[in-house]
Amino acid sequence: MTSTLALLGGEPAVTATGPHFGWPPIDDTTRAKVAAQLDTAVSLPSRSGIVAELEDGLKAYFGVRHAITTSSGTAALHALYSAARITAGDEVIVPAWTFHATASPLFHLRAVPVLCETGPDGNIDPARVEELITPRTRALMVTHLWGRPADMAVLAAIAQAHDLALLEDGSHAHGAGTHGQKIGTFGLGAAFSLNGPKPLSGGEGGFVLTDDDDTYYRVLTFAHYNKRCKSEIPEGHPLARYAVTGSGLKLRIHPLAAALAFDQLHRLDGYLLGRAEIARYLTEQFSQIPGLKITPMPEGVVPSWYGLTLTYRPDELGGLSIGRFHQALIAEGATEFDRPGSTRPLHELPLYQLPDLLFPGHPHQHHRQYSAGSFPVAEHAYQHTIKLPVWHRQQDLALAGQYVRAAVKVSDHHKELLA
Ligand SMILES: *Cc1c(COP(=O)(O)O)cnc(C)c1O
Repeated sequence: MTSTLALLGGEPAVTATGPHFGWPPIDDTTRAKVAAQLDTAVSLPSRSGIVAELEDGLKAYFGVRHAITTSSGTAALHALYSAARITAGDEVIVPAWTFHATASPLFHLRAVPVLCETGPDGNIDPARVEELITPRTRALMVTHLWGRPADMAVLAAIAQAHDLALLEDGSHAHGAGTHGQKIGTFGLGAAFSLNGPKPLSGGEGGFVLTDDDDTYYRVLTFAHYNKRCKSEIPEGHPLARYAVTGSGLKLRIHPLAAALAFDQLHRLDGYLLGRAEIARYLTEQFSQIPGLKITPMPEGVVPSWYGLTLTYRPDELGGLSIGRFHQALIAEGATEFDRPGSTRPLHELPLYQLPDLLFPGHPHQHHRQYSAGSFPVAEHAYQHTIKLPVWHRQQDLALAGQYVRAAVKVSDHHKELLA
């Protein structure tokens, strides 16, 4: 390599014009299906039309008894916690590093998110769960960060041994699985986002999966008052009397979002296969580049490759800061290299440190005090992560190759950035 770094005035390694990544992939079939929905229904108060089709499709895809769509993943999580009977003063163990909405709805139930250290891959560390269990602990919530399945066998055993509800936030991991079982099917229930960049996207939206009838009725009562409650909750069930009002919230998906998500659902496995191929190439290449390390996928795991994460190793590059390294990558035109922003350790967020201003009288952390350094593994991983979205089309391999060359170039020339 003789070329000068683009950050220092050289030619960028990536010559393809941007944007280099867009999600979800939308073609003429997608356009036609969403447009046709405009002429069918733009509001669906009952479980009918495209909403029923999407929910049936999700049930079949995941092999579960119930799928209930919602307006967002955040709403799905809120409904799931409520349906799991999480109530005032209850504690729920959540990963210290995740997107905050994995846990934030708990504040609205006056429940306490108890943060748990993660492993270097960002997933909850099963070895650190049991020390957090108290008589108030009701549930264990698991995120599959960047689409890498958490160690569900061990986590399920812990939940069972302590009589905790096992819940999943599958928002990064649609279609991912471990040891032949799909993410979202391990516990009492799972919540997924259908937001913009998620592996399965409706632009906006979300859904809850459960095999448990009561949890299903409780999700309906929480998120879908009136028609759906009337037609789906059996007469005589204790919740049936609340059908008109539900719990007072309405968290329905928009039919146009449902149409988009339904179109994408049929393509999801194809996307995942395509991503796996490009991820294999990128993994092979990046693991040879000084300054970057890839944590291998465990045996038996099928990730969604929502993001391919690289661990930056400043010690291999003379102490060059990750900020400077990342800046140099961007300057090379590799603009999709990203450092995690809002998906970050939760304990330094004001909501998690001081919920009282928003939720007066909130039981807070039951006197747990978090500060910088409370979760050293999660914090270190967060601060050293550079991630890349994973393309899914064969023709994107060339672009992926340009990104590899950009990383090789910055690594090779790192000394110029130290000067
Ligand atoms: C996106 C996301 C959510 C929230 O979903 P929305 O649809 O944006 O409300 C929750 N958890 C995780 C892990 C997410 O990535």
